[in-house]
Amino acid sequence: MLFGRAQKNPIKLPAHDIVDWKYTTCGYCSTGCSIEVGLNKDGQAVTGRGVGGADVNQGKLCIKGIFEHELFHSAGRGTVPLMRDKTYEPYQETNWDAAMDKTASEIKRIQETYGRDSFAIISTGQILTEEFYTLGKLARGCIGTNNYDGNTTLCMASAVSGYKRSFGSDGPPGCYDDFEHTDCLIAFGSNLPEQHPVIYWRMREAREKRRFPLIVVDPRVTMLAQFADMHLPITPGTDVVLLNALAHVILDEGLEDRAYIDAHCSGAEEFEKLVAQYDPVTASKICGIDEDTIRNVARLYAKSESAMSIWTMGINQSTHGSDGVVGINSLNLLTGNIGKPGSTSLSITGQCNAMGTREWSSCSGLPGYRALEKEQDREEIAKFWGIDPEFFPKKRGLFQTDIFPAIETGQIKGLWIIGTNPMTSMPNTARIRKTFERLEFCVVQDAYRDVETTEYANVFFPAGLWAEKNGVMTNTERRVNLISNVIDPPGQAKSDLWIFNEMAKRFENGQKIKFPETASDVFDEMRELSKGRFLDISGMTHEKIEQQRGIQWPMTEHAETGSPRVYSDGKFNHPDGKAKLIPLPFIDNNEVPDEDYPFWLNSGRVVEHFHTRTRTGKIGNQNKYSPTPYMEMNPDSAKELGIKHMTYARLVSRRGDAVVLVQLTQRVPRNMVFVPFHFHECVNRVSLGLLDPHSRQPAFKQCATRIEPISQQEAAAVINKAARTF
Ligand code: SF4
Repeated sequence: MLFGRAQKNPIKLPAHDIVDWKYTTCGYCSTGCSIEVGLNKDGQAVTGRGVGGADVNQGKLCIKGIFEHELFHSAGRGTVPLMRDKTYEPYQETNWDAAMDKTASEIKRIQETYGRDSFAIISTGQILTEEFYTLGKLARGCIGTNNYDGNTTLCMASAVSGYKRSFGSDGPPGCYDDFEHTDCLIAFGSNLPEQHPVIYWRMREAREKRRFPLIVVDPRVTMLAQFADMHLPITPGTDVVLLNALAHVILDEGLEDRAYIDAHCSGAEEFEKLVAQYDPVTASKICGIDEDTIRNVARLYAKSESAMSIWTMGINQSTHGSDGVVGINSLNLLTGNIGKPGSTSLSITGQCNAMGTREWSSCSGLPGYRALEKEQDREEIAKFWGIDPEFFPKKRGLFQTDIFPAIETGQIKGLWIIGTNPMTSMPNTARIRKTFERLEFCVVQDAYRDVETTEYANVFFPAGLWAEKNGVMTNTERRVNLISNVIDPPGQAKSDLWIFNEMAKRFENGQKIKFPETASDVFDEMRELSKGRFLDISGMTHEKIEQQRGIQWPMTEHAETGSPRVYSDGKFNHPDGKAKLIPLPFIDNNEVPDEDYPFWLNSGRVVEHFHTRTRTGKIGNQNKYSPTPYMEMNPDSAKELGIKHMTYARLVSRRGDAVVLVQLTQRVPRNMVFVPFHFHECVNRVSLGLLDPHSRQPAFKQCATRIEPISQQEAAAVINKAARTF
């Protein structure tokens, strides 16, 4: 007997007459899915498909990857350099030489007048690794400002800081294959199905085969929490308390891996003294998880043959973000769960090449995980580039989140923004707007002309996008993937590599340092600089990376392939070769709900969108599913305030307000609301963004708000006004 499909019209894929399939890697999230883009006889990119033989995605793509080829022809692209004397005047089209000359002369004028560090550069997690390395040469070696950072401070800085504190170096120890081997998984503040759908699919497939327990720690009943065996709805900002309590139970009940601790960890005594104060009864009153659940999770994790933890922004975007990462690392060190199959601490990175900027951009130091604070590192790089080591500062400058306050106080007068959109992504939009107005000169470099931040610039550089360029990116599991140039940038837009190389020619040190023109020549420099280091890529070439569909570092010069895990030998990157168990006292410094502002505000990503919608907002098949800023609200709280499902309400904090469409759902508790972070003039008008003391990452996910009913006519007026702003 025939069922279903055979009785119906079969699904037909549109015929595109593809004449060529070009291999590349997705440029949205850091999962690192391999994609083939189909070109028709006119050379237009008309379709895309996942690559079956690729280890990461095995043919799968999420909604963003499926429609990514539409970006090549999307609206709002920058195709011509633009210039104007004053912000708010109309831009005039210009040529590259004029735009570059103007920018170089403004950088020099500002530096000569106010000092070298008065000009700042903020970059991205979206450009290619060779471009990051070249930008680092330009920023550190030619322009010479120390106030140079990436927007990764908004997403992964806490993971970087936590890895460095625990293990002595950045670099996630594990890989996706760990899902195939683990016996227990805890996900802290990570909603995989919406944020990283293909990693979720890898995890779910592994779990269907072996049915290991999944524990989700998240204040909201996320999609992942709905699939979990246990959901721990933690009080926002108290992860450190829960982690200390888990460690307390493990030590109290003798469940720790003492042999591993003795052989591979330092600081155990101080650590044990601190966690002794966090018994489950005391901890439960702070973190909101009952004492028996804390005990059960600790026992389950410690008794599993192998156990792993993953996390995303729920941990990182907190005033205790770095401590949260250290706490997760300590949980795994305590139980001997590092560097073995199924045993790891794995940060699930946000942007496609956040890892590439951490490794090679020189944002926080010098290339290849070198530090400005180390004389040997400064000398090595200065010699390799052919400049005086004294040109480098001796410690890192301001983080992105400290650059804006430094503009406010007049310390910084000029800014170059590359592939990021702080007018939408930074907390407290009103303050950031005023900050931009204080700049003497601003240049924005982006693939899109209509990025909100461009409205505050004097010069606009139109850049190539994703697979309009050649190079590599590193994904969450240290896999270096190839991006190949599927089509060329539109109009006069140029690759970021070309832009940095051209700018370097206008500075004195740009005549001394070699700036190769092709991505593979730049990659050769990086290979050379990586030899013998933790992130050794000396065995890789662009060709090998494409053949193997991505290679995980380290891969030494004569190796056949890369390494799925690091720290398998129990040797860490602190000078004594040990990992550190670090005591984490909890200091409650969040803005918490009170009588005037009784709701926690939580924010996050939805599957259809990416970051500030500069790309996904242009793709019909994504935007139509999530076109409007909305707020999840608990039905009981809404009833008390007289707010109905699918009506507009006003979200108010001490910083500002936003009008949002209300969706009633039990996913959020009565004292919390959730708003996606993608929309301009929305959640970041309200957010506070207190900074983590180690990573300087903002606590986007914790602040106090109130909700006010609003007439629907007033709401329409506010929304129309916001839409007219751009
Ligand atoms: Fe791209 Fe991430 Fe989706 Fe994969 S999961 S297709 S990398 S957005």
